[in-house]
Amino acid sequence: MLTALEISERLQRLEATIPEGIELLAVSKFQPVEAIKAAYEAGQRLFGESRVQELLDKQPRLPDDIKWHFIGHLQTNKVKALVGHASLIESVDSARLLELIDSESGKKGVRSGVLLQVHVAAEETKFGFSPAELEAYVAGKGYETLVNTDFRGLMAMATNTDDSETVRRDFATAADCFRRVKALLSEQSPERAEKFNILSMGMSGDWPIAVEEGATLIRVGSAIFGDRY
Ligand SMILES: *Cc1c(COP(=O)(O)O)cnc(C)c1O
Repeated sequence: MLTALEISERLQRLEATIPEGIELLAVSKFQPVEAIKAAYEAGQRLFGESRVQELLDKQPRLPDDIKWHFIGHLQTNKVKALVGHASLIESVDSARLLELIDSESGKKGVRSGVLLQVHVAAEETKFGFSPAELEAYVAGKGYETLVNTDFRGLMAMATNTDDSETVRRDFATAADCFRRVKALLSEQSPERAEKFNILSMGMSGDWPIAVEEGATLIRVGSAIFGDRY
């Protein structure tokens, strides 16, 4: 683990370069609680985890005013455990998962915020709706049955490559999809369209390109915490 001072310096340097109005999610997956505490002491309040059990283990050991986002692939059998513990579930990749999150939220008496994951990368291994599937879901008002869930926006990951033009194209595709979905929602339900305002894209290696293409939230891990263990 990096020292608390190193983490705090990296975080401050990063914050100084991120444009105003862009939210920073500190991705703390595989990092010890001490590393998260160091970032917290430096003022960071928004953290992201990719495994349900890890989030549940860390949460009670850290201050209550931390907001947690879930960013990993969510299996249907983990939904019940997760609901109520994440302020935003960023990685919703099927209508079935969305319905489960909604019904579990109802049972627990909580509201859940979600992003739908849109698949724009070249790799087939990445999860998510294709832009066409996502737009069809919204055009068909698939969301209308949701009563305990706020559909807040989209999450995307670019192709894992050093070729910045490919990365830029992926982010531009996601941003395009975001604008089209927002336009559809505006026609159908202005109230829902207003809440649909988060475009989560960009990680340590590619966040400046994501911001140029319209990200409102970036998810940065190793640039803050160093290597994962
Ligand atoms: C791990 C992870 C990140 C952060 O990656 P870094 O390269 O360490 O910044 C961002 N988003 C998702 C979905 C991740 O799983």
